[in-house]
Amino acid sequence: MLVKLKDILEKAVKGSYAVGAFNVQNLEFAHGIIDAAAEHSSPIIMQISPRTLAFFETETILKPTLLLAEKASVPVCVHLDHAKDLDTVRKGIDAGFTSIMFDGSSRPLQENIELSRQVSQWCREHHVSLETEVGVVGSDEENKNADIPLQYTKIEEVQQFLNQVDTDALAVSVGSIHGMQTAKVRLNFDLLAQLSSIISIPLVMHGSSGVIDQDLKDAIRFGIRKINVATRLKIAAGSAIYEISRIQGMSGLGDTMQLSIEIRKAVKKAVLSRLSVFNPSSKE
Ligand SMILES: [Zn+2]
Repeated sequence: MLVKLKDILEKAVKGSYAVGAFNVQNLEFAHGIIDAAAEHSSPIIMQISPRTLAFFETETILKPTLLLAEKASVPVCVHLDHAKDLDTVRKGIDAGFTSIMFDGSSRPLQENIELSRQVSQWCREHHVSLETEVGVVGSDEENKNADIPLQYTKIEEVQQFLNQVDTDALAVSVGSIHGMQTAKVRLNFDLLAQLSSIISIPLVMHGSSGVIDQDLKDAIRFGIRKINVATRLKIAAGSAIYEISRIQGMSGLGDTMQLSIEIRKAVKKAVLSRLSVFNPSSKE
């Protein structure tokens, strides 16, 4: 069933687990993510980036994703990932997202606050949940060339931000980095503990593919309630395609239905491996 980010995260707070937020790149990904959520009986977030939306001209990827969410046996939220300007936010709300992230983190704090306040007002008017960000996770997967360096979230900036912005979830920067292909990052738990002690809304971690599992588990103990996963799914899909070509040569790559099946299976397996870390006892 299709649910709101606010509701799915409220349950995660009560159950002390994190909800996995997995990026949908195409329909094979969407099916693989839903297959895993159903098998694990876990609530789940399917999120779509502005880049993917642009490729599919929004409707042709958003509508089937919403349909899969509505038909699912578990709670599913469909979320717009990393909207970086007001125009992208407006289009996302109009297109039918029930939840969006406004990412003003690379802007000066005051500008981030002002734009996030505007977005919050629109979200409240349209009953859409909102995630915002303070601090910079860095190396945005949307624009690798930008190579934005990581900036830890600052306590005083968070306080200033949350005093002025009404938001349902907050992404913080505590050491993870977007787009990492191997898990080797260690998180700053002193900072996460401090943030957790002063912030009452659910916290979000981006860039989880570069974080070792033990740190992810500890981050959940310290209050992380939404964990974004993109790179790990892309690697799983890429490896599945490589494997088929290795075993079957060009004939394997020529059977596109078989390719779709293998990508769906690989994404499902990668999502299941994350759900077993984020929500081991699959509490809904
Ligand atoms: Zn992100």
